[in-house]
Amino acid sequence: MSIDLTNPIFHDDAAAREHLEAQRWPHGPECPHCGEKRAEAITKMEGKAHRTGLYNCKSCREQFSVTVGTVFERSKVPLAKWVLATHLMAASKKGMSAKQIERMLGVTYKTAWFMMHRIREAMSIDPKRDGPIGGDEKIVEADETFVGGKSTNAKKGKPIPTKYPVMALVERGGEVRVKAVPDVTGKNVREALFTLARRESMLVTDEASVYYHPGKEFLIHETVNHSKRQYTDFCGFAHTNTVEGFFSLFKRGIMGSFHSVSEAHLQRYADEFAFRYNYRKVDDATRANAILKAAKGKRLTYRRPDKAQDA
Ligand SMILES: [Zn+2]
Repeated sequence: MSIDLTNPIFHDDAAAREHLEAQRWPHGPECPHCGEKRAEAITKMEGKAHRTGLYNCKSCREQFSVTVGTVFERSKVPLAKWVLATHLMAASKKGMSAKQIERMLGVTYKTAWFMMHRIREAMSIDPKRDGPIGGDEKIVEADETFVGGKSTNAKKGKPIPTKYPVMALVERGGEVRVKAVPDVTGKNVREALFTLARRESMLVTDEASVYYHPGKEFLIHETVNHSKRQYTDFCGFAHTNTVEGFFSLFKRGIMGSFHSVSEAHLQRYADEFAFRYNYRKVDDATRANAILKAAKGKRLTYRRPDKAQDA
């Protein structure tokens, strides 16, 4: 992790606000109500009578700040703590627990938990921005895995925790797409394959029968026989090492940091790991800024745990 914790954006709210403005508005303030961008139509409201960072739009006569319409909107948590939490989550390869965020930010556990889910929301795939992966002669590996609590608990007489299926598709050398599915059925697999990857791609999967029919609609469908240890063919094309690598990082992260993940939130955790994977080639700060930029237009409405309202 390469975060300079002495950076004012992590402890000074004015600096944090300026930083967020620079990420979201690289060309100057934009009115979230009407889309006005012209500098002459937007004035900063100065003086003690106004909240800091407030702007006035002459076109629609509305006021706004940089957090309007973002996951940070109407939060009582100081903006600098949001920026710090975002950087920590962006930089932590295996994910961070809410306990760690609680300690590092000096907030309550509930607040940490809620903040992390809001930040995960900003990390989720945006279908408008992130289309299907693959394409002409691109190789896409698809696989499914089961994620859930530790089976060692069963030895202590506790019930074996339920495991939930997650599908992942990875374009070799490119991005990953993940989808938590209720069951690994032909219908669910088909839907995930066709919405998350382009059919001009070369698909590589294991020999599970659920891939057989949808596989025919791709340019090529290669299968890997794990039991015969045929992990790679002679030209290195037919293997699923990339998607398995993603799953192993995801599962280690889930086990190490989160202990248990409920089915309701599995997609969010998967999104968090997918986001870091998709931004793996850039440095930690660039990855964090990509989250701040994507924080627009995403609000969570659910309340957990125990009706957390203090985020
Ligand atoms: Zn406006």
